[in-house]
Amino acid sequence: MLKSTREKASHKAIKQQLIVAGKVLVAQGQDDFTRGHISFRLPDDPGRFFMKAHSLGLDEITMQNILTIDLDGKVVAGTARRHSEVFIHSEIFRARPDINCVIHTHPTHSIALSSTGRPLKCYSQPGALFYEALGTYADTINLIRTEDMGAGVARALGKGRAVLLKNHGVVVTGASVAEAVIGTIMLENGAMVQLLAEAAGDVAPEFPRADIEKLKHDISRPEQFQINFDYLARRVKRGAR
Ligand SMILES: [Zn+2]
Repeated sequence: MLKSTREKASHKAIKQQLIVAGKVLVAQGQDDFTRGHISFRLPDDPGRFFMKAHSLGLDEITMQNILTIDLDGKVVAGTARRHSEVFIHSEIFRARPDINCVIHTHPTHSIALSSTGRPLKCYSQPGALFYEALGTYADTINLIRTEDMGAGVARALGKGRAVLLKNHGVVVTGASVAEAVIGTIMLENGAMVQLLAEAAGDVAPEFPRADIEKLKHDISRPEQFQINFDYLARRVKRGAR
């Protein structure tokens, strides 16, 4: 295959993954009207990324409406409207060459946990995925509409996997679409279990660090994310939630 033909094929495959990812996220309750977005860095052009467009639900991504955007947040291809929060994505891609996929959503329990100001604890297995890998951005409840604000989110992410935007939402990253999608769902689950446990009363101590770290390692393997993403993609395809 010619280089350009190969690139076109890989771009098409990435866009198809974004389409499926959007449907999986909605099926998993990650939708909030048309808010929330997902992006993926171009493997052959790391200074650019594909991103969902404004005014559409996460489950309305198509091959035609995905935008191509550069690290300054400028649209370089596509005619749809760009999300004003593009800078969450561009600044994380700028700061973290290891990250290829960024998701921002407004999931209820994660937001509720962020509003308490308390850290995510390892009260469930999903919590282990974010053990010492979850930052907090607490500068504003407002949209992340400037490069400076996006850089602030990237700083809050640091070397971690995700960020709680206080009283606003989450930003979850991954090397793959599968990793970011499954991470987003697991973060919400870990936050929900914690809120339930804390509402129930005195919570017993977490397991020791070494025990949590072993689980974290085991559930962080790329194939684990892919297997679970593929399963959720099959569910969406057959019309189940
Ligand atoms: Zn938001």
